[in-house]
Amino acid sequence: MDTSLFKFDLIATEKHARAGVFHTPHGDLLTPVFAPVGTQATVKAVTPTQLTEIGASLVLANTYHLYLRPGADLVAEMGGLHEFMRWSNPMLTDSGGYQVFSLAATRKVDADGVTFKSHIDGSTHRFTPESSVQIQEKLGADIIMAFDECADPNNAVYISESMQRTHVWAERCLKAKSRPDQALFGIVQGGISPELRTQSAQFIASLDFPGHAIGGLSVGETKPEMHAMLEVVNGILPENKPRYLMGVGSPEDLINGILRGVDIFDCVLPTRLARHAAAFTPTGRINLMNASYTHDHSPIDATCTCYACRNFTRAYLRHLVVAKEMLAATLISIHNIQFLVTLVKSARQAILENRFETLAGEFLQSYQPRPTQGEG
Ligand SMILES: [Zn+2]
Repeated sequence: MDTSLFKFDLIATEKHARAGVFHTPHGDLLTPVFAPVGTQATVKAVTPTQLTEIGASLVLANTYHLYLRPGADLVAEMGGLHEFMRWSNPMLTDSGGYQVFSLAATRKVDADGVTFKSHIDGSTHRFTPESSVQIQEKLGADIIMAFDECADPNNAVYISESMQRTHVWAERCLKAKSRPDQALFGIVQGGISPELRTQSAQFIASLDFPGHAIGGLSVGETKPEMHAMLEVVNGILPENKPRYLMGVGSPEDLINGILRGVDIFDCVLPTRLARHAAAFTPTGRINLMNASYTHDHSPIDATCTCYACRNFTRAYLRHLVVAKEMLAATLISIHNIQFLVTLVKSARQAILENRFETLAGEFLQSYQPRPTQGEG
């Protein structure tokens, strides 16, 4: 592939934390970067113009969902995802693997691929490494992902078998790829076993991928297990390529991931929480449904510069939530995405100024996390 299109420049490091620039055909990504998720080619309740105002630079879309509806051929016919959803900045699609394993009603894995039933109408479909790449080429994101199997982290025997399959599939994805204007990332698996993670990171790093992802985390393991796996994997992955921690994005996970050398994150958490009236603040989450906000004149977060916090009181947002008005989801989503995008940007600035460890310590001290399992 033409590697100049997807060059990664490491600008500064502070211990394991990294600040870099990843060049893509739709613009430069300043890393670390947080990507909101546009499952069905839309970040729920938020327009592309609002995403730009928030400062989001990368958006993820899901191959499984878009393959089933409206179909990759239709997206290609409409000029690809960037044109279809009118997002002119960098985009990433996943391989469909994660959704097949978590959403499809039934699925059967074999050495060659996965047969599954659609969660929409029960119809039968099949993904192979080759078809996943082909679908992602039709969708046209800048970063596309190797087809992998995300297995239960607590089933050690199965994890090993599925990791071997993921490795064979990674090589098949590389062979199947034909578009020079897309970067295919390989995915490290291996559950919560340091030995398997080591094996997987070494194998994936040995292939010619322009970037690497860490899959199979935030799927039921503990936080210390996740942190230990990040340390193992990032100790092996090459310094000169970006590292993407898939499906992870609570505030404390972002800080802990950056501390351990992660460059790219994505998560549905900010928008999913917003639809349940939950908003991030520097001290933890609040729920705007709560009656204590009925007469509250303050914004969600007085330190936040987002459109919602500049204009609206908690009392108004609570009213929208209680009245089940759609604007509630939009305003709280804008705030939550901006909270994470700003957190990661301030982490980048701190790495450039060699004070990230201090920032991380202060943030983790004041932010009271909630259990986030199952929300990744
Ligand atoms: Zn805000």
